[in-house]
Amino acid sequence: MSLVIAKDLTKIYRAGDVEVPAIRGADFVIEPASFVAFVGPSGSGKSTLLNMIGCLDHPTAGTLTVLDTDIATLGRRAAAEFRGKYIGFIFQDFNLVPVLTAYENIEYPLIMVQKWPEARRREQVRRLLDAVGMSAQADKRPDQLSGGQKQRVAVARALVSNARLVLADEPTANLDHDTAYRIIELMKKMRDEFGTTFVFSTHDPKIMAEAEVTFTLEDGIVLSRRNHEEAAHA
Ligand code: ADP
Ligand code: ADP
Repeated sequence: MSLVIAKDLTKIYRAGDVEVPAIRGADFVIEPASFVAFVGPSGSGKSTLLNMIGCLDHPTAGTLTVLDTDIATLGRRAAAEFRGKYIGFIFQDFNLVPVLTAYENIEYPLIMVQKWPEARRREQVRRLLDAVGMSAQADKRPDQLSGGQKQRVAVARALVSNARLVLADEPTANLDHDTAYRIIELMKKMRDEFGTTFVFSTHDPKIMAEAEVTFTLEDGIVLSRRNHEEAAHA
């Protein structure tokens, strides 16, 4: 069973009398444990698509099924619960809490959303800190970390609740070229290790090449799907 199934998925924003079609009849599936990129220029609909997959926004028409759930049926409260249970988020500006250490930022969802007991939290946070190579910086606050280190913490935080799906909107946009590659490689390693599906967006064709499955977006239309492994053997 596919993890995400979009059928004729459509999103139209209404601003007064003006209608802005942001996603126009998209059809695609995302398989479990895949490593997927949505690629397109600014304004092509990447954020809109990720927001719908993340149950942050409802489709205008068509259907979007995430983990067997038609997301249009989820109210605000149910959507929040669904996200907390199954979906992790990574942002281009990291979105770490400035007054908390790396350790505390990763622990935060386990306290606020999951309400795990302390001993179990400690074990899980240490495991994630180790997985992303940040154990030595556990007690540093975000302003004491580089951009790449901040994004490593954010990757750990996205995974800490054992999410099935991680959505990353332009996760490398604020990183230099080499650091960007390392973050993508880290996400791929986490996919291998935890079996988590990763879906990220980028406007950078070089970063796109690191994905196994690529969907190209142009003006709200999902144009193509390319599997790099298939392409390599063609
Ligand atoms: P993103 O990081 O999602 O590509 P940007 O940070 O470039 O978006 O721009 C922020 C927002 O401004 C976008 O989400 C979009 O709503 C709007 N925007 C930017 N560029 C365009 C454009 N060329 N056409 C339409 N809207 C745009
Ligand atoms: P991207 O992430 O690729 O930059 P977006 O999904 O942010 O693209 O935007 C897609 C289109 O939807 C753009 O034309 C943008 O201007 C428009 N858009 C995005 N968010 C809104 C909004 N809240 N209200 C109206 N139009 C929006």
